[in-house]
Amino acid sequence: MTTGTGRVLLATRNAKKLTELRRILGPQVTVLGLADVPDFPEEPETGATFAENAIDKAVQAAAATGEISLADDSGLSVDALNGMPGVLSARWSGRHGDDAANLALLLGQLHDVPDERRGAEFVCALALAVPGAEPLVEHGRWRGRIVREPLGHNGFGYDPVFVPVEYDDPARTSAELEPAAKDALSHRGRAIGAMLPTLRRVLGISG
Ligand code: IMP
Repeated sequence: MTTGTGRVLLATRNAKKLTELRRILGPQVTVLGLADVPDFPEEPETGATFAENAIDKAVQAAAATGEISLADDSGLSVDALNGMPGVLSARWSGRHGDDAANLALLLGQLHDVPDERRGAEFVCALALAVPGAEPLVEHGRWRGRIVREPLGHNGFGYDPVFVPVEYDDPARTSAELEPAAKDALSHRGRAIGAMLPTLRRVLGISG
């Protein structure tokens, strides 16, 4: 499935995700975002898994635009909540994208959970859809634990309460890491890394 266009659409309006992928793929590849292509109807995320949502988004984007398309879906999976909030991470408090309310609700739910049972992981599914071909998906995971008080101002979402295993002692939340340090370890960075060889082949670039 080598097409060699040197161009890929990342089906997102999130500028940080676009910048991250541009930095990783380098100058040989043009990375478009949804703002760079004609509008098309975007279906709500109804999948039961991160992979289903990512595949749906990538396939819709490829079919609507004819571009080789990537899409990701991610969230936080907390051991003591049997993997929740999972695919509901962005709307856990009932309002989509209200990071402060989502985080406050999670801390309240975990209030009585002892330190040794506060394990969690960020998960990212990254799907690649080439028009006319079967979609592919790769996963990235980032293990850590949930602390009791938010710390740090970088990142977004649940970053202020997530201490990755790599920064456990002394504890630093992912909101206290520089963006490059987070990218090097994060679920999204790992999923992109796993997809890179296929992506390079599909885009016809050397790596
Ligand atoms: P999306 O995949 O960008 O839609 O993210 C889904 C939700 O999962 C976000 O709204 C956040 O609540 C959470 N999330 C995903 N990735 C991260 C991360 O790197 N840090 C903090 N929260 C995240």
